[in-house]
Amino acid sequence: MKVLVIGAVAAGLTAAYSIRKNIPEAKITIYEKGNDISYGACGFPYYIEGLIEEERKLIAKTSERVKEDGLRLLLAHEVVDVDFDKKELTVKNHKTQEIFVDAYDELVLGVGASALRLPAFQKMKGVFALNNLADANAIKNYIEEMKPQKAVIVGGGNKGIELLETLTLLAIDTQVIEFMPHILSIYDEDVSSLLVRELRGEGHKINTGEKVLDAKANEKGFVEKVITDQGIYEADLVLETIGLRPNTAFLEGKGLDMERGAIKTTLYGETNLPHVYAAGDCALIYDHLMEKPVYLPLGTNANKVGKLIGLVLAGKKPPFKGVQGSALLKVFEFEMAMTGITDKGAKALGKDYDSVLVRTRNKSGYYPGGSEFFVKLTYEKLTGKVLGAQVFGKEGAGLRIQGLVASVYAGLTIEDLAYMDFGYIPPLNSVWDSINVAAGKAVAQNTLSTEDI
Ligand SMILES: Cc1cc2nc3c(=O)[nH]c(=O)nc-3n(C[C@H](O)[C@H](O)[C@H](O)COP(=O)(O)OP(=O)(O)OC[C@H]3O[C@@H](n4cnc5c(N)ncnc54)[C@H](O)[C@@H]3O)c2cc1C
Repeated sequence: MKVLVIGAVAAGLTAAYSIRKNIPEAKITIYEKGNDISYGACGFPYYIEGLIEEERKLIAKTSERVKEDGLRLLLAHEVVDVDFDKKELTVKNHKTQEIFVDAYDELVLGVGASALRLPAFQKMKGVFALNNLADANAIKNYIEEMKPQKAVIVGGGNKGIELLETLTLLAIDTQVIEFMPHILSIYDEDVSSLLVRELRGEGHKINTGEKVLDAKANEKGFVEKVITDQGIYEADLVLETIGLRPNTAFLEGKGLDMERGAIKTTLYGETNLPHVYAAGDCALIYDHLMEKPVYLPLGTNANKVGKLIGLVLAGKKPPFKGVQGSALLKVFEFEMAMTGITDKGAKALGKDYDSVLVRTRNKSGYYPGGSEFFVKLTYEKLTGKVLGAQVFGKEGAGLRIQGLVASVYAGLTIEDLAYMDFGYIPPLNSVWDSINVAAGKAVAQNTLSTEDI
């Protein structure tokens, strides 16, 4: 079996290794248009900050290691065309400019996505997106060499808010500008506003409902001002974190099903075309709660589907229901997390839902040093099934989502969680765990509303 893989970061490389493990006789070639592979993009904010001191620590597998492991890896090789009928790729070697054709039995697309950019900043120096290792190094080098004083982050999603911490820790006066009425729009507003309140309370500048219109550069071409519909901001560093576009332009119009540039896949990364698989930021992934493929460009998802592709090619389909939009965020001392469907999502899906948001503490009331911990549960009114959960707090709050992830995945109800046997110790929680408390409140609320009917 001859397998061609395009892309050598999370999705592509995981798929290649999974195929190698499950089908040892497979001949695997990986084409990567860049020169960097197997890096942990999730670590970039900490690398730019200097917490992770060396680039090599971000790299899981070097190209030498990949070759030693029996995979044929070709760097600076861009796949520029594909013929799905003939099962052939056209590849350009950027070192020699040579163009050649290679045939496959099975094809894995792990081509990722690129950052969307605003025309206002085109060709301006001091303006960056953060999507790959070269971007991370460019930002790091710029900060070290140019010592910027004032930054604007355009976009208040997860990446933008993580980078607010990074730049602040580097003593750069930073302003976040978000076009939407709320930052972190994947969360419900009552939860995201808890974080915003804390950040603004600590003096961080987060503007919402504000649109970047233009920018001005100095005579040397370096960004100097960011102009919005509400003001003008001085900035000698701009980071654009406004979203992603899948790297699939070369696949368009060739019979591959796509939705807004993202490749449609089944639960196991299969596309509509035989012998063609896709995973990671270039593809949709099946969400078992939404009951459809959705775009969730996360490292977790790229790794998962990459691994599954290797198993599927070997004729194995391990039990897997799909993902459910689980995500974690840590910024300064605050932690936030979610899984499943929010109120916003439940409304959009036309579900008959309700929710509770409870304020508890992360330690027993009498234990010193505790802080507020918030849990939100969204549930289906008729069945009490927990559709989704969101949490916010400090120190350990984020990982409290994992129990809720399992509950949502398993289809548990608020009744199940109200008396669930959670462990207890005063420095970590209360005798009634916060999840018991939230679920108990939801049961009481749901009983009342059901009695009303
Ligand atoms: C700053 C940052 C923080 C993040 N934090 C988190 C986090 O905390 N948790 C989380 O789950 N996820 C996080 N992510 C997301 C996660 O890193 C990505 O989802 C993941 O890296 C996607 O991997 P991928 O292999 O699909 O795509 P990519 O990493 O984009 O790799 C695709 C590769 O394909 C190559 N390629 C593209 N087109 C071609 C072609 N035509 N020919 C040959 N090669 C090609 C590209 O050069 C690239 O190397 C973060 C991402 C960033 C940038």
